[in-house]
Amino acid sequence: MASQTRYTGLIDKYRDRLPIQSDSTIVSLGEGNTPLIKLENIPKEFNRDIDIYVKYEGLNPTGSFKDRGMSVAVTKALEERSQAIICASTGNTSASAAAYAARAGITAFVIIPEGKIAHGKIAQAMLHGAVILQIKGNFDVGMKLVKEVASKSQVAIVNSINPYRIQGQKTAAFEIIEELGFSPDFHCLPVGNAGNITAYWMGYSEYYAQGVTNARPRMCGYQASGSAPFIARKMIDDPDTIATAIRIGHPQSWDKAWQAKEESQGWFSACTDEEILTAQKLLAEKEGVFCEPASAASLAGAMVDIQSGKIPSGSKIVCTLTGHGLKDPNIAISQSKTPMITIEANLASVQAALKERTDVRRSPSSPSDGAK
Ligand SMILES: *Cc1c(COP(=O)(O)O)cnc(C)c1O
Repeated sequence: MASQTRYTGLIDKYRDRLPIQSDSTIVSLGEGNTPLIKLENIPKEFNRDIDIYVKYEGLNPTGSFKDRGMSVAVTKALEERSQAIICASTGNTSASAAAYAARAGITAFVIIPEGKIAHGKIAQAMLHGAVILQIKGNFDVGMKLVKEVASKSQVAIVNSINPYRIQGQKTAAFEIIEELGFSPDFHCLPVGNAGNITAYWMGYSEYYAQGVTNARPRMCGYQASGSAPFIARKMIDDPDTIATAIRIGHPQSWDKAWQAKEESQGWFSACTDEEILTAQKLLAEKEGVFCEPASAASLAGAMVDIQSGKIPSGSKIVCTLTGHGLKDPNIAISQSKTPMITIEANLASVQAALKERTDVRRSPSSPSDGAK
């Protein structure tokens, strides 16, 4: 009997497209191969013929796309006999570095901005046993320190300035082309340090050059308006947004991201925190998909550009949802208007509550007398 191929991670699947030595010890947690979900309810609200798919990267092992890059970066760190890795992080890189270092049996040092990391991410870095250094400064300051310390000691940087991170992350574009059978017309994603937009463009371009696909998407990078150096066209020193994963004023992949934008004839654009939170909520309420705020910037930006016609009717678009909603439970709870109803623990109270809520839910479309 033919045995079914078991998916063990993206290095296993794309090894011939990644710079991995043949005798390398692979560090994998089964990352990649994430769902590409076609939205069913949100597009109806536009009244246009537009297909929107979301690449749900929150379903990677530590809950963000960072795992794709980390698997390759930590595998290479072992090849190069590093005993330790280091990163500056807005949260997800530290969670991912901590997990892959634990798996590899090496030390992870993570530098995070004090008080600006979502709860779930800290929980991960702590339990995976990373050495956590909180600094009284933002991500950009942390990044600078990491570069300085790594130049003076034997520790591998696993931020996206590490080219192996980008190599791993490009595989998300491969998966999209393989699953759709074509490249989308537009690829929308949140931009912070700009490693991921660089990686997707590399992935699309690689398959395009080899004739796996006959087109490449226009890359649309969305930033939070309080943290938007690509829209300002210059570095900014005090970035701020509720979407902490993209709270970055000095993006490291500056030139490569501009190149992706230019070559693809795409664009950068900004969304307000309010638009981001609205998109996050829409995805949760209308599609059953829970992503963290930064991730929702992709859909928030796409929605603005669909409404304005910049993304025309007939388009097929993919939005990357970079991280899982459970990463940041505090924001989800604080922006939810869903009431918690406390009742007595008996059948009559439950029945009464059901009756009451059912009426409320039905009232907008089918006017029922006396419901009010
Ligand atoms: C890291 C991260 C981003 C930003 O990706 P860059 O490669 O830094 O542009 C966006 N969303 C989430 C959830 C992230 O963790």
